[in-house]
Amino acid sequence: MIDHPGNVFVVSAPSGAGKSTLTQRLVRTVPDLIFSISFTTRKPRPGEVDGRDYFYIDDARFDTMVQEGGFVEWVQVYGHRYGTGKDWLHGVLATGRDVLLDIETTGARNLRQAIPDARMIFILPPSAASLEDRLRSRGKDSDEQIRIRMEHARHEMECYPTYDYLVMNDDLESAYHQFEAIILATRATRERMTSAARAILEGF
Ligand code: ADP
Ligand code: 5GP
Repeated sequence: MIDHPGNVFVVSAPSGAGKSTLTQRLVRTVPDLIFSISFTTRKPRPGEVDGRDYFYIDDARFDTMVQEGGFVEWVQVYGHRYGTGKDWLHGVLATGRDVLLDIETTGARNLRQAIPDARMIFILPPSAASLEDRLRSRGKDSDEQIRIRMEHARHEMECYPTYDYLVMNDDLESAYHQFEAIILATRATRERMTSAARAILEGF
């Protein structure tokens, strides 16, 4: 059922597979595609900006938002909590723009229940070894964080069957073009274009 004019795209992958690289480029180049800014209790990494990468909030504020039903979904992962703000998401969708959410697999499953027509995209790393290489070359996580993320990666990979699209991020350009094609094709589905087609028909 579609009760909002904008499309919801959910992207998940093991940490290090290339989600940020792909999603940041997509929101820069695809018109009317907005990156969902989640709320998190984790501290900003160097270079991250409050209100652009995440809304950084403390545990007390996160608790309050949970109690008030302020999240479409939320999870605890890697020792921190992350959630998608309900008002924020519905506010953007109501304007007719599309939203791209970078969320992990448990939250993605819950989001699909809340928004059944969400398009679910999973990014595949070429192999376990290349995933570890990418985490190390990114240089943002400690050895301990990398160990935790690699342990979690297998569990995340096992969730691929519940996604609508699997994009292999081996060659970055190919992955980017596949991802962009999914977004553009979704915008052209009959469900999404029916009101435009009806309006044109009325002119005949
Ligand atoms: P995620 O957001 O999924 O955790 P990132 O986008 O931060 O992953 O990517 C992890 C690292 O891998 C970064 O250093 C990024 O530049 C690199 N990377 C992403 N895609 C590719 C690719 N297709 N080939 C090689 N390196 C890549
Ligand atoms: P990071 O700390 O690397 O920014 O994110 C850690 C994990 O949390 C990533 O897998 C990311 O997709 C996920 N994440 C970020 N925001 C949300 C959110 O709002 N909900 C859920 N379920 N996961 C999120």
